[in-house]
Amino acid sequence: MPVYNFSAGPAALPGAVLARIGEELGDWQGRGVSVMEVSHRSREFVQLADRSEKRLRRLLKVPDKYAVLFMQGGATGQFAAVPLNISQPGEIADFIVSGYWGEKAVAQSRCYLDPNVIADGREHDYRRLPECTPESVDGDAAYVHYTPNETIGGVEYRDVPEVGGVPLVADYSSSLLSEPVDVSRFGVIYAGAQKNIGPAGLTVVIVSDELLGRARAETPSVMNYTMLASAKSMANTPPTFAWYAADLVFEWLEAEGGLDVIGAQNARKAALLYNTIDRSDLYHNPVWPAHRSRMNVPFLLTSPKLENEFLVGAESAGLRYLKGHRSVGGMRASLYNAVPLAAVEALVEYMREFERRA
Ligand code: PMP
Repeated sequence: MPVYNFSAGPAALPGAVLARIGEELGDWQGRGVSVMEVSHRSREFVQLADRSEKRLRRLLKVPDKYAVLFMQGGATGQFAAVPLNISQPGEIADFIVSGYWGEKAVAQSRCYLDPNVIADGREHDYRRLPECTPESVDGDAAYVHYTPNETIGGVEYRDVPEVGGVPLVADYSSSLLSEPVDVSRFGVIYAGAQKNIGPAGLTVVIVSDELLGRARAETPSVMNYTMLASAKSMANTPPTFAWYAADLVFEWLEAEGGLDVIGAQNARKAALLYNTIDRSDLYHNPVWPAHRSRMNVPFLLTSPKLENEFLVGAESAGLRYLKGHRSVGGMRASLYNAVPLAAVEALVEYMREFERRA
């Protein structure tokens, strides 16, 4: 029986990538040792680092004037790195808050600047995206921050907010590489790797060179975009294994046909699951339909006492990690790139069967 992994993160990796890691584990590049055991300054690893940056640039069509950084500290580290790098003490930054992660970004920024929430989805329990117009943006703000996809609430912006001339910063942790994106609209894009990029431990940052050279003096060097850009992300020892695996994921994405192809597949997977939920009497997705996430699909059972039975049955059908986030309960199916259509087909078949029996 196949096993399908719907984990929200760390999440499924492509089977082909896992197989390759297995093959190369004891002998990477004919060196007779694993990638985990070689210096990040070795010729082989430096080549990998260059290659992975080129692949990521090709996949996302990153304009030349952007630096691509491979960092550590996760998206949570970026909640601090962004204000340290692109704002000065006493400045304000505008925040569009559409869920749990946006709230976290605001809270951390408060240590460094004066956050101003210009749009807040909380009044709709984060089941709808707050509207943001260019008029609500403060022209003097150091930046505007938002979360294109909220992993817990399951809401996703399909359009990039219009923010006038203020740099736009996006926490793309749970949707980067899930479809094409126009990088030129952003000042900073960041994403923890553990959803669509690779194993945890690596954080991808894409930053416009217009924003380099502005870091506060107290910025730790490992968080300093300008230093990292000139050190090719090797100010200190990077998470070499996670970086290696991310390079294999980029290679896999290119072989799959790139982000247009993967984006169309992701749309199909999400549509299949939402249609199944909407047509049933047992399952319910609380999110306003136009704001639903393609990556994370939370759903509730109209009869909550069946939830445990649903999860136990799913587990024995090989459908793993469907339990919802502890803050919202219910179920959540995460449909990242490495989750095949067959996984969603198996899930909806199980859901229909469970409803028939319920
Ligand atoms: N932002 C978003 C949108 C996330 O989904 C997550 C993790 N689930 C985070 C931030 C926090 O990421 P990390 O654990 O890498 O710090």
